[in-house]
Amino acid sequence: MQTANELRKLLTDINHKSYPAYKSLRGLYQFPGYVLSIDHVQGDPFAAPSRVSIHLDGKTAGFPKNLYDTRPKRIALQDYLLRLFARAIEPYSFQAKGSGKSGLLGVSRCGQEILERTACSLNPQNGALILNMEVGFPANGRSIQSQELAKILYDFLPGCVEKTLYYRRLNPADCTRVAQLCEDQQAIRQELKKRHLTAFVANGAILPRESGISDKPMRRAVPFASPSSLEVTMELPNRGPIRGMGIPEGITLIVGGGFHGKSTLLHALELGVYDHIAGDGRELVITDSTAVKLRSEDSRSISNTDISLFINDLPNKGNTKAFSTADASGSTSQAANVVEGIEAGTSLFLIDEDTSATNFMIRDELMQRVVSDSEEPITPFISRVRDLSWHLGISSILVAGSSGSYFHVADTIIQMKEYIPYDITGKAKKEASAFPAFSYALRPFVSPVFERRPVPDRTLKDQDRLRIKAMGRESIMVQKSVTDLRYVEQLVDSEQLHALAVLLCEAAAKYMDGHRTLLQIVDLLEQQMDTHGLSSLKASGNCDLARPRRQEIFACLNRCRNLKF
Ligand code: ADP
Ligand code: MG
Repeated sequence: MQTANELRKLLTDINHKSYPAYKSLRGLYQFPGYVLSIDHVQGDPFAAPSRVSIHLDGKTAGFPKNLYDTRPKRIALQDYLLRLFARAIEPYSFQAKGSGKSGLLGVSRCGQEILERTACSLNPQNGALILNMEVGFPANGRSIQSQELAKILYDFLPGCVEKTLYYRRLNPADCTRVAQLCEDQQAIRQELKKRHLTAFVANGAILPRESGISDKPMRRAVPFASPSSLEVTMELPNRGPIRGMGIPEGITLIVGGGFHGKSTLLHALELGVYDHIAGDGRELVITDSTAVKLRSEDSRSISNTDISLFINDLPNKGNTKAFSTADASGSTSQAANVVEGIEAGTSLFLIDEDTSATNFMIRDELMQRVVSDSEEPITPFISRVRDLSWHLGISSILVAGSSGSYFHVADTIIQMKEYIPYDITGKAKKEASAFPAFSYALRPFVSPVFERRPVPDRTLKDQDRLRIKAMGRESIMVQKSVTDLRYVEQLVDSEQLHALAVLLCEAAAKYMDGHRTLLQIVDLLEQQMDTHGLSSLKASGNCDLARPRRQEIFACLNRCRNLKF
């Protein structure tokens, strides 16, 4: 390893040379207190910025063990440090001058959710800290301006590192609060299981967001308040007792007039699979972490999926026990989404009528009389929702403002009225009993079979010059093949998509041999991340990654058109 002074000399030597001379800087340099690693150097000042990492040993970083002695706490601390560092470098970005991206300083942009990211990692054994960042190496045209890079490396960064990554320079109370919130969130997660609840929404929570493009809490929103019949108390290790709405396992219906806050509540529940940062308003909104949002998804690809729970006897005699299509309809896509959710091990489905296929959700009495069940290929979700709960232990929370059909099958009925929930189970059940009882499915419940063994096509097999890209939150691209993930709504960060692209390639290269089932393949991917860490996946790209849930790994592989199942 070379010293910081040696690096300074190297910088002087390459000043005003042609841009590729920057490549000679790759390597490790000992700075006072940390090692600076120049991992990847960009090809020109307009290309994606260079990758630099900062390595602190456990003693220098100095974080007390009790701030990271569990996996969730470690992830919360990493997340907190990354945010602090991002804020510290922001004013210095583009202060070093030059063309194109010269002088850019950046790290992963964190949203409201706390995710495990490669961008900041704390070694659980020894407390060593690694932080990855982007630096635009400065040039004028293609002529290296190394005195500008020196400004970044010697004047800007050392202060930022000290101020945000040395425990002794931080406010200990702030760090403790991060760990304490995390402990409280984990306590609620555990308590949900013990008490047979699918979700908890604390009184006072702020559910709506500032706007369609801002995930920050809405100002002057109506705070959440639980109906007394559903109110439970959670004894939290740090905050002590808090009260809020506990949604029991089983089938829960959310009804109410338009604009009264139904979708907002459901959306908060969807994202309650993640922990949120302090001040988000949803930090004490916690949902069963396996929950899967279901929606219709016209034109998705379905490969060899058993959707016979919902679709049978197609007019074209298509086999719905092993159904494939390159262009699914609303109802078949939603059917596939349910079955794949079961395979991915969910115990809670979340459904909003706004984004569902009506013919998948219900068939009303009158229609049943006119078009007999035997002439209808679709067994609607309403006829299966109880089966899912009884046979597979999967609960459902549904938003249904326009159809009363689900009153018959719901265990709990919540009405949203001016953003406040009311428990109307008794009243709604009484009204429903006067209406024709809903009729059960004609076809018996048979658990779907999961015997699919995916194999990659040439695009994924040929990994010599792998090109991987995440297009925001929308889709991933491997070589030139796109996998559309726009409607996988619980993906919250482009780095999760990037990780999915890497996982897809990893699975294709290592695990998809035509013998392993999809389930075994996902298990192996998760094992790899658990044992070797998320950064073990990094080999194939210069981007940082965020860990997706198991459910989204399934969703991605299931939607990939380069896999044959
Ligand atoms: P619904 O699904 O019942 O039609 P939405 O959940 O879409 O209603 O909410 C309608 C509007 O009300 C949205 O613009 C949302 O931001 C706003 N809203 C939701 N909850 C609250 C709240 N607690 N306080 C203030 N505004 C809210
Ligand atoms: Mg709505």
